[in-house]
Amino acid sequence: MKIPFNKLYTTGREIEYMKNCLEQGDIAGDGHYTCLVQDYMNRCFGCRRTFLTTSGTSALEMAALLIGLRPGDEVIMPSFTFVSTANAVLLRGAVPVFVEVQKDTLNLDIDDVVKKITSNTKAIIPVHYGGVACDMGAVMKTAREHNLFVIEDAAQGVNALYHDQYLGTIGDIGCYSFHGSKNYVCGEGGALLLNNGDEALLKKAEYIWEKGTNRSSFLRGQVDKYTWMDVGSSYLPSDILAACLYAQLQEKDLIQTERKRVYDYYCKEFLPYARMGMFDLPVIPAYAQSNYHIFHILFPTAAIRDAVMKQLRSKGVEACFHYIPLHSSPMGIKLGWQKDDLPVTEELSGRLLRLPLFAGMKLEEMSYVVECLKDCLKEMK
Ligand SMILES: *Cc1c(COP(=O)(O)O)cnc(C)c1O
Repeated sequence: MKIPFNKLYTTGREIEYMKNCLEQGDIAGDGHYTCLVQDYMNRCFGCRRTFLTTSGTSALEMAALLIGLRPGDEVIMPSFTFVSTANAVLLRGAVPVFVEVQKDTLNLDIDDVVKKITSNTKAIIPVHYGGVACDMGAVMKTAREHNLFVIEDAAQGVNALYHDQYLGTIGDIGCYSFHGSKNYVCGEGGALLLNNGDEALLKKAEYIWEKGTNRSSFLRGQVDKYTWMDVGSSYLPSDILAACLYAQLQEKDLIQTERKRVYDYYCKEFLPYARMGMFDLPVIPAYAQSNYHIFHILFPTAAIRDAVMKQLRSKGVEACFHYIPLHSSPMGIKLGWQKDDLPVTEELSGRLLRLPLFAGMKLEEMSYVVECLKDCLKEMK
């Protein structure tokens, strides 16, 4: 049997909405479906203002522009994250400062954050790994004490909670991704959530989003032609993609329940092995409600992880790992970091294995993954 790592799940309405969008002929950004999605997200997640973007990456880039990052500014983030978190900062000439993650959640280690705050620090970017919330109480408290912006990288955290607040709505700014590999997809897409700030910041966000123009005001009928107001870029996705996303988000809870079914099955089947100390299962703290984006296990050593991954792949199970920590990647080294600057991160990333998880995964597919992993463990004894 071949089990892909991820598989596209469609709700059945994507094509209808996309066809409708094409037939109406209004396919550029900020159209009918874009408004529907943004209103829907504001309502469901309690966002103050949502801007649909072309990707999670572009939402992070917009955020970096919006808080006015300048050369020499420092931004604290975990090294254990996707490259876009750091690129957004580098593109402004600012400096990413990498911190360790906690061993249980793989979310940023707040003690290390505090240690690395300097007079140049401008912002903290907590990354909600696998859709499990960072300790946002501690992050927000630290940020307020030092007068820092908080940009949540909630690319993986759509529809997940910290206590009763949706991820992405807690920091000053939140960033979502709707990339094909995430829980809710439109191929390539994302959103910027503006949770804090005055009317001027809201206007600035609209300008940045719309190529530096006041086209948003024009579309609302507030001005009779639009013009260049500020620096900006093109961060709006086509309304065709918004139409696809609308279908996905309307079934967000069904999709989440589907993912939970797989996650819970793995947990139940693997618990005896975890109890024997063969690996660690993922941890969801009491303050978090996950969206079950990732199911990962941590083996005792990197050598065991590599051996298991190889065997699973030879049996057709597409298990995989991530991330090469940013500080020890070729670019991290170029920025002056060394592998042993962040030993906890380095170690955890070597021991981590992710298993296939997608909505609509069949019982026979789930049980095949479990049986293959059990076989690997037997063979290794
Ligand atoms: C996926 C992801 C991104 C980037 O989102 P794209 O939509 O692929 O650009 C950024 N940060 C994290 C943590 C991600 O998982």
